[in-house]
Amino acid sequence: MRQLQLQQATFNPPWKLQVAHHRVHTYFYNLIHHTGYPSEFAISITSRCNSRCDHCARTHLTKKGSWDIRDIDYHLLMSLIRQIQKGYSHTNIMLGGGGEPLLYRYFDEFITETRRMLHDTRITVYSNLIALNQHIHPLIGNITKLIASVNFTNAKMYREKTGVDKYHQVTHNLQQFLKEKGDRNPSVKIQVFTATQNMTELQSFMRMWKPFLNTNDGFMIVDLHNFTRFADLTQYYQTPPIYRRFPCRQPFIQFFATASGSAYPCCMGSVLHNTHDRRLQLGDLNEQSVSEILDGDRLNKLRSNHLHGVYPSTCQTCDLWKTFHNYWFKFNDRWW
Ligand code: SF4
Repeated sequence: MRQLQLQQATFNPPWKLQVAHHRVHTYFYNLIHHTGYPSEFAISITSRCNSRCDHCARTHLTKKGSWDIRDIDYHLLMSLIRQIQKGYSHTNIMLGGGGEPLLYRYFDEFITETRRMLHDTRITVYSNLIALNQHIHPLIGNITKLIASVNFTNAKMYREKTGVDKYHQVTHNLQQFLKEKGDRNPSVKIQVFTATQNMTELQSFMRMWKPFLNTNDGFMIVDLHNFTRFADLTQYYQTPPIYRRFPCRQPFIQFFATASGSAYPCCMGSVLHNTHDRRLQLGDLNEQSVSEILDGDRLNKLRSNHLHGVYPSTCQTCDLWKTFHNYWFKFNDRWW
């Protein structure tokens, strides 16, 4: 576990207390939310992207010609939203995973309509911000949280790692957005990776952003992950962190829909689908409802395997599990 959410108070002396507070908060959030499955309904509304990040599987698979580039069918998408409205309105909708959500052709209509149908549901958008200036007004007030994937602390590193020279556009877009929204939703979390090169500049990066943040904004500092082996992280970490394996929280929390309508237990679904790895696929939303998919035994089997320390080969090559807190304890050779 090394996901730290640092609020503005990070700049005050007891910032470590703030980090500890958020760790405890996230621990209990996970613990409580894994009982009301799915607490995260993640949807890849498009598999298109305007960046070419070296740390993303999409970039490598696109070069090999094996990335299915498409927008999700609007009727399928709204059918999912209606199903969430009827049976899963407690869930958090997350848009991202395998593409840049703001490139979805019907993004503005979709967000406005979804908020009209789901008044209280939390909606989180993960975005690289390159197209943010075209969607300012639909986003303000309609989504709950914006994960702003700035990711790198300077323009040179951003250009090298993302393959596009857009750092200044991204920072300009974000500053404009923060100014326009003020203290209204969405709460913006500026995402930065814990890459060794970033950490040396982290304090000055945060100091630079401080004047632009509103009372509900902050930072999110996260580990990179390897996208089931497609990203080489050795260039990002001098000393890779070592973790003792524990069950992945995703099959207990997340339901993921790819842009083609396939259902998976985690956001690795986009990668697995494009590599034709169907071992973790739960079903197909083009042919089945969410409840029909959940009635199947694939999810329960996957959960049981993780709890008994039997990790499917796909999960063995993945390292996303370690991004989250270990809220399990081991007793009698089983995790509870
Ligand atoms: S370990 Fe990776 S592939 Fe397996 S369920 Fe978790 S996120 Fe998905």
